Amino acid sequence: MRTSGKTTSMTQAERNATRNVLLWLGLYVAVVTLPLFALLADSRGGGRGWAWDFSMALGYVGLAMLGLQLALTARLRRATAPFGIDIVYYFHRYLALLALALVLAHWLILRGMSPAALGAADPRTAAAHMTAGRLALALFVLVSVLSLARRALKLEYDRWRMLHAALATLALALALWHLVGSGHYLDNPWKRALWLAYGGCWLGLIGYVRLFRPWRVSRSPWRVAAVRPERGRVWTLELQPPPGQALRFAPGQFAWLSLRASPYAMKEHPFSIASSAERGPGIELSIKALGDFSTGIKDTVVGETAWVDAPYGTFGVDRHPEAAGFVFIAGGIGIAPLLSMLRTLADRRDRRPLWLFYGNRVWERVAFREELERLAQVLDLHVVHVLLEPPPGWTGDQGYITTEVLARHLPPQHDGFEVLICGPLAMTLSAERSLAALNVPAARVHSEIFDWV
Ligand SMILES: Cc1cc2nc3c(=O)[nH]c(=O)nc-3n(C[C@H](O)[C@H](O)[C@H](O)COP(=O)(O)OP(=O)(O)OC[C@H]3O[C@@H](n4cnc5c(N)ncnc54)[C@H](O)[C@@H]3O)c2cc1C
Repeated sequence: MRTSGKTTSMTQAERNATRNVLLWLGLYVAVVTLPLFALLADSRGGGRGWAWDFSMALGYVGLAMLGLQLALTARLRRATAPFGIDIVYYFHRYLALLALALVLAHWLILRGMSPAALGAADPRTAAAHMTAGRLALALFVLVSVLSLARRALKLEYDRWRMLHAALATLALALALWHLVGSGHYLDNPWKRALWLAYGGCWLGLIGYVRLFRPWRVSRSPWRVAAVRPERGRVWTLELQPPPGQALRFAPGQFAWLSLRASPYAMKEHPFSIASSAERGPGIELSIKALGDFSTGIKDTVVGETAWVDAPYGTFGVDRHPEAAGFVFIAGGIGIAPLLSMLRTLADRRDRRPLWLFYGNRVWERVAFREELERLAQVLDLHVVHVLLEPPPGWTGDQGYITTEVLARHLPPQHDGFEVLICGPLAMTLSAERSLAALNVPAARVHSEIFDWV
């Protein structure tokens, strides 16, 4: 969930959120720089000149950052909540590149200024820990290239994810071997203990993500209770938890879903919970057929087992209890989390004014348009459909959701309103620009991005 920019007057909740953001960022910086301070604290460490020490420092920080990458995608609820899980995944992506640059610089500086220190490059004659370091570096580069070029290489997401996890884990193990083997900078017990602790944490995170969490999910098998076709190649899955259990979630949150694959198989996909948070114990997911997994949803059989890991995410109306009203902007299947919010607000008999701007290509494929009409009867909801290819005789808005469209329908006074956007990235960015042009404070604009990986 993204919330952009500057604040107006801050509520207590916003102040707490800011404090949590700073706390977690501070922790991140501390963990990443701790090995550096350990290095600086002991001036006996190098004695081979500034460039050498600098190169070691880069290697230390780079490796600490690469290890922390495991934490960024471990879906730790408390750590991701202040930012939104999508932002944490973006961090993961860009920090990986920064960390790789640091580790590459570590190697390049040594190669340029102390080539003798690197020893032989031939693995048959080189020290094993030096070969481990070279291999780790090559693997980190490979992991990054595969991630950046996944779509261009037409690498299927699930296959890429497995490869990514395996190669990154191997690279980390080799890097740790390299570090311990080059023991020059680990010449006292507490420095060794520090890296041992880092290695232990990495192992713990891998165990948590690959074993503990799937085990926890596997203890609660859900059941597919219904599969309903909707307009626009969308299917709604109705899922029931095991007897006696119910999922508590806030409208706008999402679930990781696995079907026909063990929870250990790393084949889960994220989907917003589309049903009302006030009903239960089951949930509904509305899924647009786009690729391998989502196209197979229509073939799901009632009674099938579903694995559900939920709830995640911070996007939603419940984060803004003091809002005077809400403006929702949806593109295509981006309606799913917003529908959950509308259904929930209807169940709560919320009387605040609501606007929904809903962009689609053609009228016949506007998912949930009949239900939106019904919701408009019970809520103070104004639905504005915007069509790219309107049918003959269409008198509504056409094209994209532009500044003009928003200005035409929003009341001149929208102070105290929160805006929630969900749709394709291009639509989201364009809507954010339009809102800025209408002087909506960036702190009141929140967006969920579906394609963050
Ligand atoms: C927070 C969130 C909520 C979402 N909610 C909905 C929703 O309510 N309804 C809906 O139809 N779609 C939703 N999506 C998008 C949905 O997750 C993808 O469309 C789906 O996973 C595509 O998988 P596929 O195999 O069908 O398609 P593919 O063609 O294999 O994948 C298309 C793209 O989807 C992404 N993707 C694929 N598999 C995964 C995975 N396991 N984990 C993460 N991303 C993946 C990748 O970017 C990939 O390139 C949501 C995504 C996110 C991040």
